[in-house]
Amino acid sequence: MPFQLLRSEFQRCLNLFLPPACLLCGKKLPPGFLATDFCPECRAGLPQPAPARCPICAVAHRTLAPASHHCEACLRQPPPFARVHAVGPYAGTLQEAVQRFKYHGQLPLERPLGILLAESLPSRGKPCPDLIVPVPLHRDRLRERGYNQALQLARQVGRRLSVPVEPNLLRRIRATASQQGLDAVTRKSNLRGAFAVTAPLSGRHLLLVDDVLTTGATARECAGVLRQAGAASVEVAVLGRA
Ligand SMILES: [Zn+2]
Ligand SMILES: [Zn+2]
Repeated sequence: MPFQLLRSEFQRCLNLFLPPACLLCGKKLPPGFLATDFCPECRAGLPQPAPARCPICAVAHRTLAPASHHCEACLRQPPPFARVHAVGPYAGTLQEAVQRFKYHGQLPLERPLGILLAESLPSRGKPCPDLIVPVPLHRDRLRERGYNQALQLARQVGRRLSVPVEPNLLRRIRATASQQGLDAVTRKSNLRGAFAVTAPLSGRHLLLVDDVLTTGATARECAGVLRQAGAASVEVAVLGRA
């Protein structure tokens, strides 16, 4: 019996005794769903991207500005990345899923979250990235958490886009205080010199992957060093845009 068939048969038997449940609400999943899925209701209930947002950094416009308007931060200092792709605002069930994945070790969430992230990227009319680069964790933080959530997501996206993931290209060379609770200015200085690129990147088109983008300080710092190392372009993919 081919391995694939054996596996699906095994999954079928397993489902009889242990029906797969939604990773978010815990409800029994309809037939055909995997144990690592969100149920259709939870998927439909995920927060949707703001209709009017900055075309570069994806921040929701506070006023009813046209969608083509750049936000104040991007106008004041154009970021080194071309644009941010976000699944949706960092709120509601999306925020809950990210927090469970990132802080509570609920690793099976990487699959449905990775699928959402891959689906949020434009499928046509854009050159595919040559390489996917996750935002790195410092080794102390990695030891504490046991995994880098950005790398797990990057691998899921890479598999779906058939684009290689390069986990060691970007290194965090300096441990930084947590960005949580810091204002935008402090976040920026907190990250200065925290990242280094380990290989030349002449002309490469990169996709930088992280879980959440808040002020954009991390993405700016990472994209900056990647561009300095010769990257032709950097786009950013995140689950939640705060
Ligand atoms: Zn559900
Ligand atoms: Zn912007």
